[in-house]
Amino acid sequence: MADRDPWQDARDRMVDTQIASRGVTDIRVLAAMRKVPRHLFIPGPARESAYSDYPLPIGHGQTISQPYIVGVMTALLALREQDRVLEIGAGSGYQAAILGTIAREVVSIERIPAVAELARENLARAGMRNVRVIVGDGTNGYADGAPYDAIIVTAATPAVPAPLVTQLAEGGRLVAPVGSRDLQELVRLTKRGGQVTRETFGGVVFVPLIGEHGWEA
Ligand code: SAH
Repeated sequence: MADRDPWQDARDRMVDTQIASRGVTDIRVLAAMRKVPRHLFIPGPARESAYSDYPLPIGHGQTISQPYIVGVMTALLALREQDRVLEIGAGSGYQAAILGTIAREVVSIERIPAVAELARENLARAGMRNVRVIVGDGTNGYADGAPYDAIIVTAATPAVPAPLVTQLAEGGRLVAPVGSRDLQELVRLTKRGGQVTRETFGGVVFVPLIGEHGWEA
C-alpha cells in the first residue's frame, strides 16, 4: 500500500468544515478537493496554511483563491467527466487541477509568463496530465480549443468578455466574478438554444483581470 499523504487529514477537514458544511453538495467537487494536494500549489512558508479558510499569496502580486470559493465556482460549472474546460487566470494552477480531476481536458490561460511557468510546475508535481497552461490575454479566450463545455474566469472583470461567450458550447456554463475592482458578484451564464441566461450568486473579491476585454493594467 502506498504511504498515506500526511496532509490528507488536513484536506479532509478542509472539505468537511469549509466546503461541505457550507452547502457545496456536488460529490465530484468534494472528491476532487479531497484528492488534489493543495499544498503543492503554494510556495514558501504560506504552504503551512494551505488548508486554511482564506486566499494565500503565490507571488507576483497574485493569490490562490480561498478553498470555499474554488468549491462554489467549480460546483456552479456543473461539470461532467467528458467536458472540455477553459480557465482564465491559471495562477497557482490549483483551480485547474480541480477542474482536470473532474473533467476530460482543461486549457488554462495566464497573462504573466513566470506565473504560467509556476502553474505548469505545480500541475506536473501534482501529476496532472490533462491540463495545458498557455500564456496570453485570456479575455480573448482561446479560439483554437473552442467550443468549451465550461468556462471559468478566476480574476475580477467589469463584464463577461464577449469572446468567452462566443467560445461557449451549446449547453455550456460560464462562471465569472463580475463587478468593480474592489468587489464582484459571481455570475453564471448558460447557453441554451443560442440564448444566454444569467444568474447571480454571492459577493466575492478577486485580483483584476487585465486585458483587452478586462481592466487596463
Ligand atoms: N485560478 C488561480 C487563481 C487566480 S489569481 C488559482 O487557482 O490559483 C488570477 C490570475 O489571473 C493571476 O495569476 C493573474 O496574473 C491572471 N490574469 C489576470 N488577467 C489575465 C488575463 N487577461 N488573462 C489571463 N490571466 C490573467
